[in-house]
Amino acid sequence: MTHLPNLQKNDVEIHDLIIKEEERQRKSIRLIPSENYVSKAVLEATGSVLTNKYSEGYAHKRYYEGQINIDKIEELAVSRAKELFGCEHANVQPYSGSPANMAAYFALSDIGDNIMGLSLPHGGHLTHGWKVNFSGRLYHSYQYTVDAETGLINYDKVHEMAKEHKPKIIFAGATAYPREYNFEKFGEIAKDVGAYFVADIAHINGLIVAGVHPDPVPFADVVTSTSHKAIRGPRGGFILCKEEHAKAIDRAVFPTLQGGPHNHTTAAIAVCFKEAMTEEFKEYARQVVKNAKKLADELNKRGYKLVTGGTDNHLVLIDMIGSKDMPGKIAAKALDKAGIVTNYNTIPWDKRKPFDPSGVRTGTPAITSRGMKEDEMVKIADWMDQVLCNPEDENLQKNIKKQVEDLCDNFPAPGLD
Ligand SMILES: *Cc1c(COP(=O)(O)O)cnc(C)c1O
Repeated sequence: MTHLPNLQKNDVEIHDLIIKEEERQRKSIRLIPSENYVSKAVLEATGSVLTNKYSEGYAHKRYYEGQINIDKIEELAVSRAKELFGCEHANVQPYSGSPANMAAYFALSDIGDNIMGLSLPHGGHLTHGWKVNFSGRLYHSYQYTVDAETGLINYDKVHEMAKEHKPKIIFAGATAYPREYNFEKFGEIAKDVGAYFVADIAHINGLIVAGVHPDPVPFADVVTSTSHKAIRGPRGGFILCKEEHAKAIDRAVFPTLQGGPHNHTTAAIAVCFKEAMTEEFKEYARQVVKNAKKLADELNKRGYKLVTGGTDNHLVLIDMIGSKDMPGKIAAKALDKAGIVTNYNTIPWDKRKPFDPSGVRTGTPAITSRGMKEDEMVKIADWMDQVLCNPEDENLQKNIKKQVEDLCDNFPAPGLD
C-alpha cells in the first residue's frame, strides 16, 4: 500500500479515502475504456513541487520570472510530442480533453459558425456539438450519426451533410465507437467543402502511437487529445497541428481560454511520451487490441449482441437490451458488485434515455496495463456472463468478486504498490 505519512498526519479523511481508492483499483477488473493505470514515474511527476510554479505564456515568452527549469520541461514535452506523433507543432497546456477541443474551436472558427460532429448517443463526445455543451450552445451544430444497420459511420452521408451545411469545422473522434476511423476520408470531405478537419484522438491516442490504429496527423488540420486514457499519462490534454495553425492554437489556449499551465501535469505528460516511445509500450498497445478482440469474440460466443458485431480497437459496446432484454444500468450495477467495473452507455439509435440506456461499454486499456492477456479475457467474459444471466444473485456476485480479487493479485497494477 502506498505510504503517505504527511497526508495521514494532516488530513486523515482524505488519506483514508485515497488508500481505499487504491484498494478498489487494485482489486477490481477495470473495464471502463477511458481509464488506465499510470506508471509510478508519471505519478511522481504529477505529485511534484512543479505545482508551486506560475508560468503564463510559452517557453522563453513568459509573464513571470524563474522559468529556468519550467521552460526546459515544457520544451521536452513539446519536442517529444512532435517526435512521437510526427507533427509540425504541439501545445501541451490544455487542462484536459474538453479544453483542448474548445481551443480548436476558438482557433479555427467564430462563435455562431456551423460545425459538424458525431452525435453523442451515437458515440461522439459532448464537445463535438452536443446541445447542452458549450459546443452546441455557441455554434450551429449539425450532428452526423452512425448507420442504423451496421453501426458504422456512413462517409457518403457525412459528405452530403457537409455539402449542405458548409461547416467551418468537421470533428471526427468518439467515446464509444468500436471501429477504425477513416481519417483520410474525413480529410477529403473537409477539403471538398472548405472546412477544417479536427481529429479528436482522446480514446485511441496510445493505439495511434503504436501504429495499431490509422494516424490522423497527415490528414487533419488539428488533432486534439487527452493525455490520459490509452496513452497512460496524467489527466490533461494536448493539441497537435500543422505549422499554419500553430499561432492560432497557441493563442486560443493562452490567453483566450486559460491562465497558467499546470506544470506538474506538463512534466508528467513529458514522462508519458517518453514511456510511449518504447517498444514495450507498442507491445502493450498491440495487446490492448488483441484483448479487446478476444473479449468481443468470447462475448459473441456466449450470445451477446455487440454494436458493429465486434471491435477493431480497445472498446467493446454491448447491446444489453438486444442480448438479454436488460437495461445497461442494471447490467453495469450487477457487474460492479462482482468487481467488474464498466459503465452503462447509449447504443446507436437507442430507444431508451441517456441516463437509462440500452448498452454497457467495456474496454481493455487498464487490464492490459496489468499484463492480462487472451486467457484472462476468457475468464472475464465467463464471469460477466454468469453475473448477467443472474443479475439478482448476490451470492454469485460475492463468489465472483473473490475470484476477481484472486486474479488481480496475480497481475499487479502499474503505479500501485
Ligand atoms: C474523454 C474525451 C474527451 C474529453 O476529455 P476530458 O479530459 O474528460 O475533458 C474529449 N473527446 C473525446 C473523444 C473523449 O473520449
